[in-house]
This record gives sequence, C-alpha cells and structure tokens, in this order.
Amino acid sequence: MSIEDALPRLRAELGGEVRAREAMARHTTYHVGGPAAIYAVLETVHDVVAALRILEEEEVEWAVVGKGSNLLVSDAGYQGAVLVLGREFKKHAIQDDTLRAGAASVLAHLVQEAFSLGLSGLEWAVGIPGTLGGALAMNAGTPEGWIGQIVDTATLFIPGLGLTLVHGRDVVWDYRRSGLAGRGIILETTLRVSEGEPARIRAEMERNLKKRKASQPMGLPCAGSVFVNPPGDSAGRLIEAAGLKGLRLGGACVSTVHANFIVNEGGATAADVVGLIRMVRMSVKDGCGVDLRPEIRFLGSFEEA
Ligand SMILES: Cc1cc2nc3c(=O)[nH]c(=O)nc-3n(C[C@H](O)[C@H](O)[C@H](O)COP(=O)(O)OP(=O)(O)OC[C@H]3O[C@@H](n4cnc5c(N)ncnc54)[C@H](O)[C@@H]3O)c2cc1C
Repeated sequence: MSIEDALPRLRAELGGEVRAREAMARHTTYHVGGPAAIYAVLETVHDVVAALRILEEEEVEWAVVGKGSNLLVSDAGYQGAVLVLGREFKKHAIQDDTLRAGAASVLAHLVQEAFSLGLSGLEWAVGIPGTLGGALAMNAGTPEGWIGQIVDTATLFIPGLGLTLVHGRDVVWDYRRSGLAGRGIILETTLRVSEGEPARIRAEMERNLKKRKASQPMGLPCAGSVFVNPPGDSAGRLIEAAGLKGLRLGGACVSTVHANFIVNEGGATAADVVGLIRMVRMSVKDGCGVDLRPEIRFLGSFEEA
C-alpha cells in the first residue's frame, strides 16, 4: 500500500489527469514549492469519490488545492496527493437571487459575471485571487465584506459521510477562519446576491480595486497577507513598527509597500519565505509581545527550514 500502488489505480479510475512528482511551484502564486508525489485533477463527482476511496485504501494522505494563492509548499514537496477540482466544478448559473457555482470557479470571474448581470454582493471580492472553494475554506474577505456573509449553502464531499449539504447559517465564519475548512472537499456553493444599480456596483468595485492597488505590492509573486491581524491592531503596522520592511532572506523580502506581504523577488525558495516568516514573528514578539498567527497555509514538511 503506497503512492506507487495508488498511482496506477488513480490513472485507471479517474477521468481527470493524474501526474507523478508534479512541481507545485507551477500551482502556487508564490511560484515556489517542490513536487507533489501525486497531482490529480478531479473532473467529476465520480472522480472525487473514487480518488478518496483509493487514497484511503492505499493509506496516502491528500490535500485539496485551489489556485494556491494562500499556500506555501515546502521545497521538499508533499509526500501525498494534491487534489484539484476540474471542469465540472467550474460551472455557474444564476437563479433569481442566487448564484450557484462550482468550487473551482475563479472568484474574480464570478465578481465580473455578477457585475455584468447587475448583481450586487461580491463587490468587496474584487482583486482577491483564488477559487471559490479556497475562498470558502479561508472565509476570504476584506474590511468591506467576506464570503461567509453571502453563503446560502455549500456542498461538500466528506470522507465517511459522502455528499453533504451544509447551510451557511450553520457554519462558524470567523475572521479568515471557516467552519468548512478541513472537513472535506467543498464542491459547490450557492451565494446570495441581489439586483443592484450597475453604476453603483462598478463604482464600489473601482473604489476597492484602487485601495488595493495603493496599498499592496503589485506584480510580484506572493500569497497575500502572511499573518492575520491581531485583535484591535494590524499585522502590517506591527511589522513596519519593528523596522522590518525590506528585510530579505534569499529571494524573499518583506514588501516595502505593505509589511504584511512577503514577496518573491526572484528565485526565492519556500525555506527563504518560511525563514523570513519566523524572523518577522520573533522580532514582533520580542519587540511588543504580540505573537502573530500566520494566515497562509503550509503544505509539506518545513522541519529543516
Ligand atoms: C495578491 C493577493 C491578494 C490577496 N488578497 C486577499 C484578500 O484581500 N482577502 C483574502 O481573504 N485573501 C486574500 N488573498 C489570499 C487568497 O487569495 C485567498 O485566501 C483565496 O481565497 C485562496 O483561494 P485558493 O483557491 O487560491 O486557495 P488555496 O491557496 O489553493 O488553498 C487555501 C486553503 O483552502 C483549502 N481549499 C482550497 N480549495 C478547497 C476546496 N475546494 N475544498 C476545501 N478546501 C479547499 C486548501 O486546502 C487550503 O487550506 C490574496 C492573495 C494574493 C496572492
């Protein structure tokens, strides 16, 4: 029972592509990360069911990944299966005041689609990269709004339970935390939207985008905010106050635009990024006693880093 046994079984049973030793640097916005032992695209619910059954039987651990825009993958890679949702989960449809969309839908596309149909509710999400599934798992948001506020239902595949419909009102949505995270694979969701005045929707989207462009580094690989804001304060302010803007380790650098972003200036490794995260965390803790909690998710082993 092993990865070597799981690979041919997955290839035989899944409709989607199954790759061995896939470089995760190709699938994260940091553009770093070693190989995933298995990288499987799940095109249908059948693929989801079959993949999880095979991986359980072969005792191979797995992780679901969206666009990798909140993810740091170890340089050593991941000794398990990275599962990615494919075509079947990129569809969406509008019915009355509901937007039903597959979890592999790109959030930015849904924001544009809602705008073009004169639907309000997603204006805050403009400029957030990633998939809808990733947004639900992270409770992605901004000070203007977050996804949990508009989730009507979510359909998950939960190992041992199967397809499960969860109502948004029954989920705990906290700042960058979601009760859906780690429960299984989010496959689809319905979002509450409402008819809106297109000019007002556009103005709000433009305002939010302008704010983002003025305050965040643009064009350099990163994974957004590295740390969550501690209660009543901002991680960026604390890091800047500690004098850490511009601090470098290898190819990674604390952004000079927004101190809560660590950017890949070129050739950074995951060890550089995680090393810088540790340096920032220690300096802020030593300086003002606040232990910053990472917002980004880690995949693989970081013990040697
Ligand atoms: C430039 C930049 C700006 C950003 N700005 C913001 C911002 O303003 N607000 C904000 O909240 N975030 C922001 N982010 C972070 C990131 O875009 C969001 O967290 C996004 O929602 C992650 O989606 P993803 O598909 O990339 O998820 P990934 O990074 O692939 O995964 C993140 C987590 O979600 C889980 N996950 C992904 N898909 C599923 C699924 N289908 N089922 C179950 N679990 C799943 C993964 O296992 C992982 O734990 C920013 C990132 C960048 C690079």
